[in-house]
Amino acid sequence: MSPARLVLATGNRGKIREIRDLLSGRDIAVLTCDDFAGWPDLVERGETFEENAACKAMELSRWAAMPALADDSGLEVEALGGEPGVMSARYAGKQGNDAANIARLLREMEGIPAERRGARFVCVLALTSPGGETLEIRETCEGSVTTAPRGELGFGYDPVFVPAGMTRTLAEMSLAEKNAISHRGKALCRLRTLLEAGEPGWLFV
Ligand code: IMP
Repeated sequence: MSPARLVLATGNRGKIREIRDLLSGRDIAVLTCDDFAGWPDLVERGETFEENAACKAMELSRWAAMPALADDSGLEVEALGGEPGVMSARYAGKQGNDAANIARLLREMEGIPAERRGARFVCVLALTSPGGETLEIRETCEGSVTTAPRGELGFGYDPVFVPAGMTRTLAEMSLAEKNAISHRGKALCRLRTLLEAGEPGWLFV
């Protein structure tokens, strides 16, 4: 089997770190935006995680002329009807302002009692080829939203999310602990199992 090469369709440092960590030690060369000049702006226009992941991966696959892996993820809060969902990264307006996103989330959830603070992180991975082949994987991490941020690690909403059956937030866990239970960790684990089995075949030609 020839070594596989793929490029990550994200500029998010937190995600790059987690994905690299989860695919490390395998016979896969993982390229990122740091390996290319003139990186395209991968815009999310879809209404679902699936649409966004597939679009980003496909656009990058064609641009870079190699397989691309995109992750679209976000937080769905039951009491908010699934919000912020696909808007998670820009919930407070500006793309990727974690502190402002958390502040808005806690404001929206003010007064909601512990038993109604259920939420889940969703991760959809899309692996695509320049020829149009696509592999999709969806995983979730169930839990609840705290009333105040705790912890310094991780990124995004980690300081306000406690996984089901646990007491610490994701921001109070090491990367290894988080990856073992997180939506992205589980999705990448499934992807890794497929890759180790030589699938999808088009990645290894
Ligand atoms: P996107 O997938 O780039 O659209 O961004 C998803 C957004 O959801 C991130 O910017 C975070 O705000 C949030 N998010 C996704 N995964 C995680 C996670 O593992 N921890 C905390 N926040 C996350």
